[in-house]
Amino acid sequence: PFPLVTDYCDIVCGFGRGSAELGIPTANVPINQLPKGINDLDLGVYFGFAHIKTVDGQELSVETRRDGRTVVYNYGQYLSEANDDLSVLPMVLSVGKNPFYGNDFKTMELHIIHDFKNDFYGARVKFNILGHIRPELNYTTKEALIEDINIDIRTAQTVLATPPYQVFKQQL
Ligand code: ADP
Ligand code: MG
Repeated sequence: PFPLVTDYCDIVCGFGRGSAELGIPTANVPINQLPKGINDLDLGVYFGFAHIKTVDGQELSVETRRDGRTVVYNYGQYLSEANDDLSVLPMVLSVGKNPFYGNDFKTMELHIIHDFKNDFYGARVKFNILGHIRPELNYTTKEALIEDINIDIRTAQTVLATPPYQVFKQQL
């Protein structure tokens, strides 16, 4: 069914476990803002590209600091160095019920493969889904879950860097 593409979605609060417990933050998006094709996906991990912008339609703001460094802000919060290209970034998407945590409802969460200095709640995210990595699995340990997520991230990075996938970066 790929590529699938969304419109700009809100970034909502989840349980805060991604960063706190796993060290892998995931931007959660509301299920009801997604097209049907995406809502119908099987539980699992997918990859694609994401574009972040602030809720008022402005791009994230760029400022030069007194020390001459140029940095990117979202609502005044330091997000990243300005020479990092934040326009379109690789991501892994979890469509899951998070069995490890005993949840019973579906969540859609994006880990954007970029080291942000702060969170960006209040921004909006548009993304495409270009492929499937694995079904959702249950894990007996947190370490095994983290290990698999890191494999997902490396897989997505490798595949998305190749020319056939770079084409879809331009389309976001
Ligand atoms: P929540 O349960 O509220 O989703 P998380 O611990 O999963 O909390 O953290 C998610 C938040 O962290 C995102 O909404 C976003 O603002 C921020 N964040 C920082 N870096 C990233 C990243 N690389 N990918 C996704 N979200 C990130
Ligand atoms: Mg999350």
